[in-house]
Amino acid sequence: MRALRTNSSGLSATEAADILRTVYGIEAALEALPGERDRNFAVRAQDGSRYVLKVIDPQADAAMVDCQTRVLMHLAEQDPALPVPRLCLTRACTEVAKLTVAGQAHSALLISHLPGQLLVQAQAPALALPTLGAMMARLDHALRGFFHVALAQSLVWDVRRLPELAELVGYVDDDDMRRLVHEVVAQFKDCQLRLRGLPSQAIHGDIHGGNVLLDSAGFRVTGIVDFGDMIHGPRVFEPAVAISELLTEGRMTLSESGALLRGYVSAQALEAREVDALYDVILARHAVSLLVHAWRAQHDPAGARALVNSVSQAARSLEQLLNTGRAAVSEAWHETAGTSPPMAGLRRRRARLLGAGAELFYEEPLHIVRGEDVWLFDAAGRRYLDVYNNVPHVGHAHPSVVSAIQRQVALLATHTRYLHEAVIRYAEQLTARLPPRLDTCIFVNSGSEANDVAWRMAESITGRHGALIMEHAYHGITHAVAALTPALGGSVAAHIACLRAPPSGVAVDQALSAADVAVAAANADQAIADLQARGHRPAALFLDSALTSNGIFDPPPAWLEPIAERARAAGALLIGDEVQYGLGRSGSHFWGFERRGLDPDIVTLGKPIGNGFPMGVVIAPREMVEQFQARCGFFSTFGGNAVAAAAGLAVLQVLEQEALQANAQKTGGELREGLRALAQQHAEFGAVRGSGLLLGLEIQDPQGRPDKRRAQRFVNVLCAEHGILTGLEGPSGNVLKLRPPMSFRKEHADRLLAALAATAGAGQDFSP
Ligand code: PMP
Repeated sequence: MRALRTNSSGLSATEAADILRTVYGIEAALEALPGERDRNFAVRAQDGSRYVLKVIDPQADAAMVDCQTRVLMHLAEQDPALPVPRLCLTRACTEVAKLTVAGQAHSALLISHLPGQLLVQAQAPALALPTLGAMMARLDHALRGFFHVALAQSLVWDVRRLPELAELVGYVDDDDMRRLVHEVVAQFKDCQLRLRGLPSQAIHGDIHGGNVLLDSAGFRVTGIVDFGDMIHGPRVFEPAVAISELLTEGRMTLSESGALLRGYVSAQALEAREVDALYDVILARHAVSLLVHAWRAQHDPAGARALVNSVSQAARSLEQLLNTGRAAVSEAWHETAGTSPPMAGLRRRRARLLGAGAELFYEEPLHIVRGEDVWLFDAAGRRYLDVYNNVPHVGHAHPSVVSAIQRQVALLATHTRYLHEAVIRYAEQLTARLPPRLDTCIFVNSGSEANDVAWRMAESITGRHGALIMEHAYHGITHAVAALTPALGGSVAAHIACLRAPPSGVAVDQALSAADVAVAAANADQAIADLQARGHRPAALFLDSALTSNGIFDPPPAWLEPIAERARAAGALLIGDEVQYGLGRSGSHFWGFERRGLDPDIVTLGKPIGNGFPMGVVIAPREMVEQFQARCGFFSTFGGNAVAAAAGLAVLQVLEQEALQANAQKTGGELREGLRALAQQHAEFGAVRGSGLLLGLEIQDPQGRPDKRRAQRFVNVLCAEHGILTGLEGPSGNVLKLRPPMSFRKEHADRLLAALAATAGAGQDFSP
C-alpha cells in the first residue's frame, strides 16, 4: 500500500536550485518545506515572484504524478478562480520536469505560490470553518468531471483500506487504544457496503490544516494545496477527512465541526445517506491515523515524529466520538445538513403500524440489531453496555443457549401432548432446585400467563376471589393479572387490597425495628379487613420477591413474616412471583423468595428462564396442580414445547457452569459499593437499593426529593453519551434500574460507575 513509509529522497536545496535554473530558467533562493513524501521547496525568484518546487518522491507512481499535473490543468479550466496552485511550464513547455540528480531520476513540478498562513498555524481556525467547507464543496464540484487511472491507487490513508490496515493493530502499544481501534474496525466493516453505494468522484482526499492556507485575518481560504493523495471515492470522504484531520490536529472541536459541514452544504448539498456515513468514516480515519503512526513509530521514526502531536489528540478525539455516540453526533450533522436520519422512516412506520402509544425507550430511540453477552449493537454498529435487560439472563445470544435452540428447532417443535424427554428433564431440574413441596410444573409462555394460571389455581382451590398485592405491583397483562398490576395505572378493583412497601433504605441484613414490624402487621390486617368490608376473602397474596416495580426494595424476612402469617391465617395461598428475581439474580439465593424468608405455595417464573425464548412456568404442589387440571383441563399450545425446554435446560446449565449466581453476588456487591460511594459524592444520588444484579439508585433533587425529570435525563445521557442502557423504576419513576445480564463483570460495573460520575459531575441544570 502506498504512503505507509514517508519520504526518503534527500535532495538538497542547492540541487533543487540547479533544477530551477536549468529546467525553468529561474534564478532563485530556496527553502525546504515540510512534506510527507514529495520534497517541497519554497522558491523566491530574483524578480520577486514566488513558486513551490515539488520534487516528486522517486518511488511515486508515474501515473500519480501525471494525475497531479492533469488535475491542476483541469481545475484551472473548470474554475479559474479556485485558490489552488497553477502549473508553470518548463523551458521546453512540458508540465513535468524529468531530470537526473546524482544518478537518480527525478520528476518535478513548479507551481504557483499561494499567499497566506497555514490553517494549522492560524490563531482562531474556527473562524475559517464555514468558508473552508464552502471552498471544499466548490473544489469537489469542479472535480466532478475529472478522471485518471491513478485515482484507483491503493493509498494507506484511504479509509476503505482500514480492514487491511487493521493488521497493524499489534503495533498500538496502549491496551485501551488497541481496543478502541478494534471496535472501530469492527464497526467499519458493517458500513463498507453502504459506502460503495454513495455518490463517488475524484476528491482531494487530504484536506487538513497543513494543506489549507488562510488570509491574514484567518477568515478567507487563500489556498488548498497538495493533490498527491487524490482518490476516486465517496464524495463525503472530503468533508469527513477534513473533519477528522482538524479534530486530530486539535484545530477544531466536535461541536465546531457543524460549521465546516454547514459551509460545505451551502455550496453543494449532501444526501442523507452521505451525512449518515460521516460518523463512520471519521472514526475510521482516526483509526487509520493511529495505525499508521503505530507502524511508523517502529519502522519510520522520522515519519512518526511528524505525527506525534496528532496521535494523542487522535486518541482523545476518538474516545470523545465513541462516547458521544453515533446518534447524538449524526443527529446534529443531519440538522446542519438539512437531511433526516434514516431511522426517522422506521419510527414513522412503527407509529403507523404499532400505534403511536407503542412505547419506545430513550429520547433518541435505539435501533438494536444484535446482542452479544452484555452488549447490544445498533444498526450503525454502535455498541451499548446493557445494564437493563434481565431476559438474556446468561448473556445475549449465549452460544450454548443459541445452539440448544437451533438444534431442537431443527429437530422438532410441537406441543406437550406427546411424550418428550426435554420438558420432563427441565421440570426435574427446576423442581430439584425448589422446596420439596413445589414438585409439579405447568408450562406456559410468559410471566403474565404464569401469574394468570397461578391466580386461577388459587381461586379454584380456595374458592375465594380476593387478592392481596403490593401497592404499585406489576404481575402482568392478562385481564385477571392486569387487575393485580396497579403499576399500570387505573383504579384498584374491589377484590384487590394493596400492602404498603417496606420502609425505604432498610436492608436485608438489618434488623427491622419492632415498630416497623408492627406497622407491617397492621398494614396486612387492614388490607384483609378492607377486602372483607368489600365482600371478599383473600385467595392469594402475590409478591414479586424483588419488589421491583415498588422501586426495588430489599427488606429483611422480618418485614414479610407478619404479612405472610396474616395472609395465610386469612386463608390465602402465598404466590412467589420469581419473574424478576429467580435464577440467582439476588446473588445470595437461587430464588428471591428465599431471600425474603417466604415459604410460597406457588411459584411463577418467566422472563429470564429461556434467555429470550418465550417461556413461563407455574410450580406448585402436585395435589394443587392435579385439582386444577381436573377442574379446568388446562392446556397451552406452546407451553413447554421442546424448543422452550431446550432453552430452559441450556440456561440452567450455563448458570451453573459459569457460576453466574456467584458472579451476581460478587459483581453486584462491588457495584453496590461503588454506587454507595458515588452517592456520598453527588447530591443527586440517594439511597442504593436491591442486591446482586438487581439494583436501584434513587435520583433526587437538591432537597432529597424524588426527581423523575432528572432521572430521565440520566437515563438518556447514559445512553446517548456513554452507550449505557439503564431504565427507571418505582412509583415516582426516579429509581435508576440496574438489572444487567448475569454475566456482567467488574469492568462493566466500573464503566457504568465512571459514566454515572461523569453524568452527575456534568452539572446539568434541571431548574424548570
Ligand atoms: N411479574 C413480574 C414481577 C414482572 O416484572 C413481569 C414483567 N415485567 C411479569 C410478571 C410479566 O411478565 P411478562 O411480561 O413476560 O408477561
